[in-house]
Amino acid sequence: MSRPDSVIEVAVFVPLRKSFHYLTEPDHSNETAPSGSLVRVPFGRGVRVGIVLGPVLDAAVGRQLKPIIELIDEVPVIGPELMRLGRWAAEYYQHPIGEAFAAMLPGTLRHARAPAPRQSYEWIAADDADDLSLARKAPRQAAVLALIRRCPAVIEDFESLQFEWRRPLRILEEKGVVRRRLCRSTEQGPLAEEIGLNVAQRDAAASIVGAFGAFRTYLLHGVTGSGKTEVYMAAITKALAINTTALMLVPEIILTQALVERLKRRFGSAVGVLHSGLSDGDRAQVWLKCRGGEVKVLMGTRSAVWAPLSHIGLIIVDEEHDASFKQQEGFRYHARDVAIKRAQQLDIPIVLGTATPSLEAYLNVEKNKFTYLSLPERTGVAKLPPISCIDMRGLPMTGGLSDRLCRALGNCLERGEQALLFLNRRGFAPVILCHQCGHIATCERCDAKLVWHKERAALICHHCGSQKRRPQIAPCCPAPDLVPVGLGTEQVEETLNKLFPDKVIVRIDRDSMRRKGTMEKTFSAIREGAFDILIGTQMLAKGHDFSRVSLVGIVDADSQLFSTDFRAEEKLAQMIIQVAGRAGRAEVPGEVLIQTHQPHHHLLQTLLAAGYDRFARDALSERRMAALPPYVPMALIRAESPSQELPLKFLATLTEKVKDRDIRGIEILGPIPAAMEKKAGRYRAQVMITAPQRAVLAESIKAFVDFSSDISIHRNVRWSIDIDPQDTI
Ligand code: ADP
Ligand code: ZN
Repeated sequence: MSRPDSVIEVAVFVPLRKSFHYLTEPDHSNETAPSGSLVRVPFGRGVRVGIVLGPVLDAAVGRQLKPIIELIDEVPVIGPELMRLGRWAAEYYQHPIGEAFAAMLPGTLRHARAPAPRQSYEWIAADDADDLSLARKAPRQAAVLALIRRCPAVIEDFESLQFEWRRPLRILEEKGVVRRRLCRSTEQGPLAEEIGLNVAQRDAAASIVGAFGAFRTYLLHGVTGSGKTEVYMAAITKALAINTTALMLVPEIILTQALVERLKRRFGSAVGVLHSGLSDGDRAQVWLKCRGGEVKVLMGTRSAVWAPLSHIGLIIVDEEHDASFKQQEGFRYHARDVAIKRAQQLDIPIVLGTATPSLEAYLNVEKNKFTYLSLPERTGVAKLPPISCIDMRGLPMTGGLSDRLCRALGNCLERGEQALLFLNRRGFAPVILCHQCGHIATCERCDAKLVWHKERAALICHHCGSQKRRPQIAPCCPAPDLVPVGLGTEQVEETLNKLFPDKVIVRIDRDSMRRKGTMEKTFSAIREGAFDILIGTQMLAKGHDFSRVSLVGIVDADSQLFSTDFRAEEKLAQMIIQVAGRAGRAEVPGEVLIQTHQPHHHLLQTLLAAGYDRFARDALSERRMAALPPYVPMALIRAESPSQELPLKFLATLTEKVKDRDIRGIEILGPIPAAMEKKAGRYRAQVMITAPQRAVLAESIKAFVDFSSDISIHRNVRWSIDIDPQDTI
């Protein structure tokens, strides 16, 4: 008979909102599987993997428990601190606990024992290497050398090169141009010179450092180019000096190569980088280096919030407002909010930095939950650029560009400066129709129009990816006469090429940057000043420091002015300010022009006349009056199925039952069909729930979960819970 202490609770990696009991291995009944370790267990008729939550002290006797099959690794894959965080997050986001823990681990560690950590080397360049002659004779070797020259490189860094780099690297080593050494330990202080901070930066850094050892959330509100990164680095330096580590979350690492290099120049190989572009193996290695204490400064995207960095003394979330911190499928956590919880558990300060704080952050400052720090001015001589609107109504246009914007472009280029045009729509035209019959090309699997991609000569659905060739689209016409309607980045690029034939123009969007490595190459070319005009989507909007850009043009602000999502205006205002922030970051003063047919729209009026702060305060008071987040917590329940009726029926039945329970103060809106009801062949519906307090919201969501299994049609409906949803349409 098993002793009670050999019963363990396991979060099995299955989509069920409960854990399961098992006996520890039969042959070693005196050995327990410690909490946080990975085990293989019998489940149903199969075998699954799970994480041990802990021993069950009062195991129910009389039930037939099965023993686990195998303890996969003696070392728990998740330590006590992250076990606590994972349990909290599964509960807060009402997500199946096994799936939540699985999502916290790098892919390869979800089912196998951790590999041995690789011996880590870094490559450095000899000072006397002849880079110039190398560039002529062996461009690949030159590119490898250039990468190493920027900062000592570890093996994962070479992955950003888009060619086979192993051979050129070996040759460079053989020639003695570069050499490898074991990664240096980081007992020594910062490597690169620190910049002397200005008064505002010094005050901010001092305040953060003063809070070391205690939980405190800072909102570092610094206009674009105000030197937030220097504040982070100053605080990180102090954190390392007292033998703690620092975790820094950023929205999209691939776009912040320059930031990675800056950190590496300062902190050497103590810097680890985690992002989705890494292979599974590399990701696991970085993760192990965090656990082993080799990485002391970890910079990563969303999922890095779960990294097993030990002795964390400081957490930083850069671009706190960015929606990409929210996972949009599966385990829908918000990395910023999880990071705040982690800081609270660890009793350490956390810094949320941004030029455009979220309304959540504003409200938390108002309630004194966050401490407000401000960097009100750009560093050095750089000034924030003036922003003005171009009223497009009735103006003559050339391929989507007004004369005024064209003139401004011409002047900017004549002065030898760079221009950046922003349009958040890739492809050539968002709509294509037949001039003969009026037929509009739509997707068969989605409620959406097909986007004309001229370069690929295809009509592509941006929601499900399905494609059509051009002649197929107007079946009623023997000779369709297809005309593109509206504007995409490909079209603006074409216009620019016609208007400025002798200028170098680069387009930056998901299509043009599709090939691995293109993005890194393009962005470093931009920094070297290789282009005159940049045209692109939101990839261009974030965080880059393009010092020669003096003109920013927002080609079309209108399409996002009338969304029904209650967060749409906030997102648009943030985007305008962020894009505008790319202008005039160095000595060259900047200018920002926004093309619109709605110059009197209140958002543009407020933003331009009074600034983001004022916009945010107005938006907050609207949210308060409408009883929307951040004033009330919200959840969204989504359902989808290949049948049109089922999701609505499922949600309606569920909602009725929950309403019968009479939970005080909850508001239920819906069920209603999603704004785009059909997507990828499935119909979607949703219910929105708000409550006066978190606990009440949690209670009502639990009611939804409880009742869901009673509804017979639930097997044909896929449904999910989204706590604090970012997209609500
Ligand atoms: P942010 O992160 O707020 O956009 P950065 O930290 O990238 O700003 O700083 C913008 C530019 O100003 C960078 O080129 C940086 O090197 C420079 N900079 C930052 N702080 C100072 C300072 N105190 N003195 C001089 N230059 C600075
Ligand atoms: Zn589609």
